[in-house]
Amino acid sequence: MVLNWSDIEQRAVAGEGVTEAEALAIAALTEPEDLRRLHAAAGAVRVEHKGNFVNTCGISNAKSGRCAEACSFCSQSAHFNTDAPKYQLKSADTMVAEAREAVANGVREFSLVASGRAMTSAAELAVVKEAVGRIREETGMQTCASLGLMGREALADLQAAGLQAVHHNLETARSFHANIVQTHTYDEEVETVRAARELGMYTCSGGIFGMGESWAQRVELALELRNLEVDSVPLNFLNPRPGTPLAEQADLTAADCLKIIALFRLVLPTRDLIVCGGRAVNLGERQDEIFRVGANGVMLGNYLTTAGRPAEIDLDLLQNEGLVIRPPPHKPHPPSLRAAVRVDGTDANGVA
Ligand code: SF4
Repeated sequence: MVLNWSDIEQRAVAGEGVTEAEALAIAALTEPEDLRRLHAAAGAVRVEHKGNFVNTCGISNAKSGRCAEACSFCSQSAHFNTDAPKYQLKSADTMVAEAREAVANGVREFSLVASGRAMTSAAELAVVKEAVGRIREETGMQTCASLGLMGREALADLQAAGLQAVHHNLETARSFHANIVQTHTYDEEVETVRAARELGMYTCSGGIFGMGESWAQRVELALELRNLEVDSVPLNFLNPRPGTPLAEQADLTAADCLKIIALFRLVLPTRDLIVCGGRAVNLGERQDEIFRVGANGVMLGNYLTTAGRPAEIDLDLLQNEGLVIRPPPHKPHPPSLRAAVRVDGTDANGVA
């Protein structure tokens, strides 16, 4: 298929993503000249929809290890022998202190991430609710939680306590999911995202690349996320963890990572694309290029079980690229954010 770049760019600027056939053709590009054209198109679409604003996320690994699920990439599963930390849910005070540190480091959205199939304990949920309410009140950051396979009722309860965003990755394409996770289904992942979306929460859902999936399956994931109408897509690149079934899996190049970012920008032109785990190990020096190929967000600080680079380096990168951190959603939007306003009168955070 011959790609008509000016037509693709025009439609993306109007908010329309590429077709499945176009996405597959993009995924098949290998020639340096074609990749340069792809990167330029995706970068231009990012500028069109996001201006010079970027989202910066930070996380607390609020509860770590001892998970009964068996996701092949994850060092927190009790099924695998790994050196990931194991501890119960942190106190609200600890999470709030971490949030304070994060906001001082330039983070605009802070997520409390807990290991486990789902957080069902009323006592644990009470601690998360307290932490969420205090983080929102005391730091002004957008509040997010990643608590596993959560149902609508529990999410509504968290929303009432001040939770604005829900993170839950689909991990990979539907057709590849059973290769990676056998302890829960793809539909269960989708249901969590759908429940958050129906509650009007900001939904953050993406995947991990480099787990052995094909390029067609990367396209499949992008289209699934587009159908789900998620607000934000975290893009993770596998950092193989010793002791997990994917410990020896390493098939991504930096060029692949940049192509994935650009592909996702053209499939999901108006959504937030946040580059998260595995950035340093897979992109190396080329992580400086992520915004030029379509990303408009980055996770700062440490990841769940691995260390990130110092936030100052990333903040310098934003400055060098002429980017500024987008204000959290409850603050008034500066006029230049109008490009991110949807036709339904809400912004990408669902805020009117
Ligand atoms: S990804 Fe989540 S559900 Fe899967 S093993 Fe890790 S902590 Fe458990």
